[in-house]
Amino acid sequence: MSPYQNLEEYNLEITDEVKERYSSIIDEIGEDVEREGLVKTPERAAKAMLFLTQGYQQDAAEILKGAMFKEDYDDMVIVKGIELYSLCEHHMLPFFGKAHIAYIPNGHIVGLSKIPRIVDVFARRLQVQERLTHDILECINDTLKPKGVAVVIEASHMCMMMRGVQKQNSVTTTSGFRGQFEKIETRNEFLKLISSDLA
Ligand SMILES: [Zn+2]
Repeated sequence: MSPYQNLEEYNLEITDEVKERYSSIIDEIGEDVEREGLVKTPERAAKAMLFLTQGYQQDAAEILKGAMFKEDYDDMVIVKGIELYSLCEHHMLPFFGKAHIAYIPNGHIVGLSKIPRIVDVFARRLQVQERLTHDILECINDTLKPKGVAVVIEASHMCMMMRGVQKQNSVTTTSGFRGQFEKIETRNEFLKLISSDLA
């Protein structure tokens, strides 16, 4: 066996159901489902959709709890520029951008790789950017119980860029602050530290 294998497993029953529906959609829009380039498309699209919504089966709080360590460090911890890909719940089109997250430990720190992981857990669901921001914020706040937590997300929405208003360069910024970040000086320090990434 090779030293590392990245296994992808799909529930066959669900994949088949979703595949049938994609097949109908392709047919309804006037395409030929039997055309060579499209033969395997319903299955690929079904697997892509199941991958992009896998967050429903994952528990972000458990992921954080699995990597919490006692530590006296009590300065701001910032993970900035976390790549983020999600699907808007209104059009099921992608929105994507960056998340910047900070917390001030209160006796516990968390393994740094877990912060991007919980971003994925919440992003891989049907979302609105506002709720995504809130979900991440509350999860860290409730699980790690830090002295403060801050989340800023800047994202571009394909539903705005490709259709509707066609505003191709607009970026939506959302933010949430708890605890010490509700104080203006702490918040400003955080915003200054991440500002090289802000447009
Ligand atoms: Zn949308």
